[in-house]
Amino acid sequence: MTKINVTKPYLPPKSEYQQQVSEIFDNCILTNQGPKVQELESILKKYLQAENFHYVTNGTIALQLALKALAIEDGEIITTPFSYVATTSSILWERCKPVFVDIEADNFTIDVDKIEAAITPRTKAIMAVHVFGYACAIEKIQEIADRYKLKVIYDAAHSFGSRYKGQALSCYGDISTLSFHATKLFHTIEGGACIVKEKAVSDRLEMIKRFGHQGDDYYCLGINAKQDEFNAAMGLAIFPHLPEIIASRRYISETYDYHLTGVVERPKSQSGLEYNYAYYPVLFRSEEELLKVFAALNAEEIFPRRYFYPSLNNLPYLQEKQICPVSEDISRRIACLPFYPGLSEEIISKICQIIKTALLNVKMQETA
Ligand SMILES: *Cc1c(COP(=O)(O)O)cnc(C)c1O
Repeated sequence: MTKINVTKPYLPPKSEYQQQVSEIFDNCILTNQGPKVQELESILKKYLQAENFHYVTNGTIALQLALKALAIEDGEIITTPFSYVATTSSILWERCKPVFVDIEADNFTIDVDKIEAAITPRTKAIMAVHVFGYACAIEKIQEIADRYKLKVIYDAAHSFGSRYKGQALSCYGDISTLSFHATKLFHTIEGGACIVKEKAVSDRLEMIKRFGHQGDDYYCLGINAKQDEFNAAMGLAIFPHLPEIIASRRYISETYDYHLTGVVERPKSQSGLEYNYAYYPVLFRSEEELLKVFAALNAEEIFPRRYFYPSLNNLPYLQEKQICPVSEDISRRIACLPFYPGLSEEIISKICQIIKTALLNVKMQETA
């Protein structure tokens, strides 16, 4: 039995990557804003219609660079507890305090109606996540940020390929960050990006990402977040396949819908959102149901993942206990099903059958 994992990295035809690599060998430029990095940046800039775009080594450093470039060095950052750990860890790493605001039950993004109550004189920014590729309440968040003079950072790691009101979902806020990790919809093995609204902030980020100096002139404290040519080459080989990647994910999503409508709960998509089909999250009625379904799937070598669990306000290394009932509840009973181009209808059908049988067994035990 071949193992079915929650995701499988997309690989372009080998010859297309080899062609890219062969050009790197001809150029003998391996890093430091080489031709492949420049080409990928220009392609992605155009695709996203982003004025100020920085390709960096990963999506976590992108978040840290965002805080640094916006000169946020301490204070409180309002954020969501329902995300991958990097959203919170980047805030802590930059010596700021994450202040968790609970999420909406409909699509798991930060609950905008609860943001204002969490603002204090120490609040510097709102860091929200377009989780699973669904859009945050962008207009309302911006309105609050303007009123309280806060910066807005979007962790847009899931949103590449989503469009909101005709614009790439990855281009909102003062800075949006992307991840091009191998497990993401579009990847460069490891990689990430910062999309910056203001030119001055973008220039500062450019300096920070390469040690803070230009030649012998030293401007500011910097780090090394430069991406190299081989990673960019993977992106260049994959990018032309993006339309078929998204179309294939859409088809798989619809196949799951066909089997699972009425069986499990699903997030509600928003008006104005052109969805990228980044993940296929399903919500069970209870953690017990989830664990039973997992046991049944695992027995068949099928491995969904608990995205996202635990709710990040419960991370053991946080100094202070904060409570987010909605996120904690959803975290306990949500899972992402295997979801990647190439997943066959036969396997999807098998996965759904196992889920249905396991849920039926739970129900029979309840009524027994
Ligand atoms: C993947 C991910 C990141 C981190 O990206 P890396 O490129 O792996 O560092 C950050 N935030 C979210 C929501 C993610 O899913």
